[in-house]
Formats: sequence, C-alpha cells, structure tokens
Amino acid sequence: MAEIIDVAVVGAGIIGLAVGWAVADGKRKVYVLEKNDSFGQETSSRNSQVVHAGLYYPKNSLKASTCVEGNRLLYEICASNGIAHRKLTKIVVAANDLEREKLEALLKNAAENGVGGLYLLTRQEVKRIEPNVEAVAALYVPSTGIIDVHGLMKFFLGKAKDKGAEVVYRAEVTGIAKERDGYSVTVQDSSGALTFFTRVLINCAGLNAGKVAAMAGIDLKKAGYRLHYCKGEYFSVGKGKSGLVKRLVYPVPLPEVTGAGIHVTLDLDGRMRLGPGVEYIREIEYTVDENKRHLFYEGVKRFLPALALNDLAPEMAGVRPKLQGPGERQKDFVIHHEEDKGLPGLINLVGIESPGLTASPAIAKMVGEIVNELL
Ligand SMILES: Cc1cc2nc3c(=O)[nH]c(=O)nc-3n(C[C@H](O)[C@H](O)[C@H](O)COP(=O)(O)OP(=O)(O)OC[C@H]3O[C@@H](n4cnc5c(N)ncnc54)[C@H](O)[C@@H]3O)c2cc1C
Repeated sequence: MAEIIDVAVVGAGIIGLAVGWAVADGKRKVYVLEKNDSFGQETSSRNSQVVHAGLYYPKNSLKASTCVEGNRLLYEICASNGIAHRKLTKIVVAANDLEREKLEALLKNAAENGVGGLYLLTRQEVKRIEPNVEAVAALYVPSTGIIDVHGLMKFFLGKAKDKGAEVVYRAEVTGIAKERDGYSVTVQDSSGALTFFTRVLINCAGLNAGKVAAMAGIDLKKAGYRLHYCKGEYFSVGKGKSGLVKRLVYPVPLPEVTGAGIHVTLDLDGRMRLGPGVEYIREIEYTVDENKRHLFYEGVKRFLPALALNDLAPEMAGVRPKLQGPGERQKDFVIHHEEDKGLPGLINLVGIESPGLTASPAIAKMVGEIVNELL
C-alpha cells in the first residue's frame, strides 16, 4: 500500500520552506518536495534581496497585506535569529513636477496599505542625505532594507525540519490524481517513480506553479492561473562607484512600466547593482544581454549623473512568475484553497512574484491557518 502522509508541499524555494515551517507541528507527517539538488536554486536566489515596504500594491490586495505584515515579521525573525540584514531605507525620486505629484499619490496609497513613517523630502533634503542624487523631491521610506536570502531560507529549512518536516531533493512531482479525502502524488527521483497519498497538497512551485495546478486538475484558463515569464536582468556597478549612494534609490514608477522601474540597490557587502529590467520571455533562461547596458545606464543616469556607462557590467537575471501578461493591469497573488473548484485539500500559490520574498512569513502564516482548518 502507498505511504500516507498529512501534507505535501511542492517546491523548496523561500515560499515552500516557509510554508513547510508553518504547517509542520511535530505530529503531522509533512514532505517538502524539491526537484533540484538543493533548496532555493530558482527565483529565490535570483532577486534584489530587498525587504519591501509595500508602497505600490493596490489597497486590500494580498500583495499589500502580506508585504506589510511580512516586512514586520522578517525584521523580527532576523533580529532574533542572527540573520544578516540591513534596514538601509529607500528613497523614490521625482525628476520633475509631474513626477512629484505621482509621489504624493504613491504616499497616499502606501499609507492606505499601512506603511508607516513615510514622508516627502525637498530637493535640498535629498541633497543632504544623498549628495550624488538629483531629484526635485523624494519619498523617504524608512522600512525598506536588504536581507541575506540564503540565510533566511536556511532558517526556514532548519525550523521546518525541527518540527518534523522532511525536505526531499531530486524529487520532482510529475503526477497528481484526486482521490477520496486527498491526492495521490507521483514523484520522480533517482530510483524511478514512486507514488504516495497526501491529505493536503500545497503548490509552491514558483515558475512551475501553473503546471502543478494543471496536474492537480485545475483548468488554468478558467481559473486565470496561466503564468507569464518575465525576465529581470541586473548590471553590477564597479566597486569604485558603490559609495555613490547610502540607501536604495528608485525612480517614480511609470504606468507603462511593469515593476518599479530600473533602480539602484546595494547588497550586504555594499556592492551596487542596477535593475531589474522587464522583459516577457517564452522559455526560462537567465542570460544577460550586454547590449542593454545603455538602457540601464539611461534609466538611472538622470537621477545618478555621476555614473558612467563603463561602470556597468552584466551580472545576473531572474524570472518572475507573473499572472499579468504584457500590457495587462497588475494582478494579485493567488493563495487559494481549491474547495470551490471541487478540489478540497489542494492549496495553490500562483503568481508569487515580488514582493514574495518579503511576504514569505505572512504567506506561510496564511497557509498554516488554512491547513489547521483542514487537519
Ligand atoms: C528579478 C526579481 C527580483 C525580485 N526582487 C525581489 C525583492 O527584492 N524583494 C522581494 O520581496 N521579492 C522579490 N522578488 C520575488 C521573489 O524572489 C519571489 O517572490 C520568491 O523568490 C518566490 O519564491 P518561491 O518559493 O515561490 O519560488 P522559487 O524560489 O522559484 O521556488 C519554487 C521551487 O519549486 C520547485 N519546483 C517547481 N516545480 C516542481 C515540481 N514539479 N516538483 C518539485 N519541485 C518543483 C523549483 O525547483 C523551485 O525550487 C523578485 C523576483 C525576481 C524575478
């Protein structure tokens, strides 16, 4: 007879690991299944490592609520568990009066989302804190920071294991069949295919979340779960120029741009990088097109004129699992128990793009609450 477990989590990125921690309780049999050799080898290690504040997301969206709660929880988790992070703060800069008006709208939206401590800076105030930045005004965001994402994933992994979850690598979920009171799950590992039964199945498969949902019987078109791949490339800035800014600097987001616009981030070693860009792609790949150097430079030079084209070098890329296709309006995270689609016990997490890293502890908490009602 096939093995019977309580909860199977598909994917060991930051979301699957945090969810593994939230659903394990020392008594339940929990598997976290990962197709790669280790945890966090996909989107969770290809991002800006920014703890976002929650400025941009529509009021009452899951993105807004989980980002604001996740921001608070992450700083608490980091402080009590020695995870490297720095609350660097951020400014969103306006290049002209029209953009200044947009900053005011951003401030209003962020305040409605519950983001605290924001205020507008004049040109002189910007110059005082960031002498190399040109702006007519800026929005100061005290709760933005950067974090050691690998360290955070190791923390979630350790906590999940401490509570009895088993994290299994080289275990690709290749088949899901609905049974009475649960799902039979087929996993391909080095020794071949094996099948087990789980009462609850949680899909945290990142870029593959649409495919896994479809395997479980979801009609992607009807549910609106079809994912689009959206690549974000980064250029690093030579060490000599890293000291040009002390905090993260973002432009005012433009309506035609998907994402926050090309911005300046710093890592925990103080290295500066520009990005991420926005490009919809058909197949997942992570090359960085050196020819885009100009584009990145132009995007940033208007607020950081001391930067030179030659300071930029191609660095890395990540791919966003986006529910919104090119030109479509912003779409929210899907975090959903699929009982209403005739699939009780199946929880889908689809479209977990930015701010998924920031939101991870809040998302895990939400999923933990759903599972507590089911088991
Ligand atoms: C360019 C870029 C910049 C970003 N910057 C930020 C930022 O600064 N701050 C922020 O908060 N967020 C940011 N994000 C978003 C954040 O990185 C993601 O929301 C988060 O990493 C998603 O984690 P995940 O666990 O859902 O996905 P992943 O890390 O992709 O994990 C999914 C896992 O599922 C596994 N898997 C897939 N299919 C199967 C299967 N069939 N069987 C078994 N395993 C499977 C994969 O191998 C993978 O390990 C950024 C994203 C991108 C692309």
